[in-house]
Amino acid sequence: MSITNELLNTVLRQAGREVSRKEFLTLAGRGLAVGVATSTLASCQTDSGPTTAATAPTPTTGTPASQVTSATMYTSPDGQKIPSSEAVSPPAKVPTDLNKPIELEEWKSDVDPQSPPTPTPLPPDKRVGYALVGLGHLTLEELLPAFGQSKKSKPVALVSGSPEKLKKVAQQYGIKPESCYSYENYDQLKDNPEVQVIYIVLPNSMHAEYTIRGAQAGKHILCEKPMANSAAECEAMIAACKKAGKKLMVAYRIQYEPYNREVRQMIRDNKFGKTKYIQAQNSQSSANPDHWRHKKALAGGGALPDIGLYCLNTARFLLGTEPTEVSAYMHSTPGNPLFKEVEEMMSWQMRFPDGIVVDNITHYNTHDSRFYRVNSERGWIHLNNAYAYKGQALQTSHAEGPAKLENHITLGAKNQFATEMDHFSECVLEDKAPHTPGEEGLQDQRIMEAIYQSAREGRPVKLPAVKGTDVFRGPEPKQA
Ligand code: NAD
Repeated sequence: MSITNELLNTVLRQAGREVSRKEFLTLAGRGLAVGVATSTLASCQTDSGPTTAATAPTPTTGTPASQVTSATMYTSPDGQKIPSSEAVSPPAKVPTDLNKPIELEEWKSDVDPQSPPTPTPLPPDKRVGYALVGLGHLTLEELLPAFGQSKKSKPVALVSGSPEKLKKVAQQYGIKPESCYSYENYDQLKDNPEVQVIYIVLPNSMHAEYTIRGAQAGKHILCEKPMANSAAECEAMIAACKKAGKKLMVAYRIQYEPYNREVRQMIRDNKFGKTKYIQAQNSQSSANPDHWRHKKALAGGGALPDIGLYCLNTARFLLGTEPTEVSAYMHSTPGNPLFKEVEEMMSWQMRFPDGIVVDNITHYNTHDSRFYRVNSERGWIHLNNAYAYKGQALQTSHAEGPAKLENHITLGAKNQFATEMDHFSECVLEDKAPHTPGEEGLQDQRIMEAIYQSAREGRPVKLPAVKGTDVFRGPEPKQA
């Protein structure tokens, strides 16, 4: 510790004042501190009265100067005695309510973006317990790691057909051996009180069966997209959860992702005037014809239900209204074994109320490309990597007088999967309806069926008119 700091602390102890970190660092960090400390010491010695409120800043909480310990020594690895640094706890507001963030002292000016509130994780015993069904790419690469960033959710059980995977993943994530299940004894989840939610992360054709069995086991269900392979399956899933008195949410992570939510707000606020049309693309490349994604019975279709669904669902989410007509064109390269059963490409247009048109393309055989552009009367909003797990890049363009302004907007990063799971946990904890319930998945399924029909028949297909805004969605998520 420097002589300056020591002197300053001595002075403040004598003055009986609390010291704000800003004040401390400002004074202690400069040579000025010596002069200030010396003169304050002199005034303490001559003035026996307490420091007045007018001169002494009183932070809400913080370490009183009297508790700031004096210098101690520590021993370096080579045996030298070194003066220890002064440890000071800066002032902070610390609400006892676990849901309210600790407010640390301010130090950033408003010239720079402000930090988000400090996280408010629930203690592990208060978090909602999840059973993950299917230990494939999404579960291992994204979902299990995302629990590390969640605040209200925890993994407590696993379901897999592979005993080796179960054993290893259970060890890695601290899941009890007795909370590992096979597909055969899946229904025994009903006897596991730690499990409140079953998260279905299986091939699409298995979503309906495992949702229905899960609801019958008395658990709430979070189901991956697409909800199922047909509207009839979606209806059966909704009915089963309703009958069991359990919640059903479809894992539309984009609806919990901050950039997409920001674009939606701009659209709803008519930031650049009325929206006129949207162009959307979600494409990637695959290589394994034996994978379930290329088997119609398991996947339900090709690029459309797997990745094109993001264009469809996000457009509905952004606009809030529902399409009234679809017109589609589908193609698969003849002879390519990848596309023997499922489509390689789907291109489709959706007509929304007020003449808004949404133009979409999804492809299974191009380098990955995931974006949309919202074209409005007086400007556009472009979101690159819109449907990706991360890396969203938001850009807007509009005119001001002779100038064309193009802005790049950066928001604080959030793990979409953690935010999405925490929303569902909050619904369970507070007994609320999820923002993306089964009805939201059913509507997408009906529209996808119309898209396939249009592509097959080579003509536009009308959809039933739906009045109102966000009619298939539940209340807005709190934290997203
Ligand atoms: P995956 O093939 O990597 O994993 C599927 C798991 O299901 C594997 O563990 C596999 O062993 C198991 N399985 C059980 N029965 C099976 C069977 N008969 N055939 C094949 N696998 C079987 O798939 P994934 O990429 O993890 O996708 C799983 C689900 O998650 C799909 O519905 C997919 O659409 C969805 N998904 C969502 C996102 C997202 O961002 N929300 C991303 C990827 C996948």
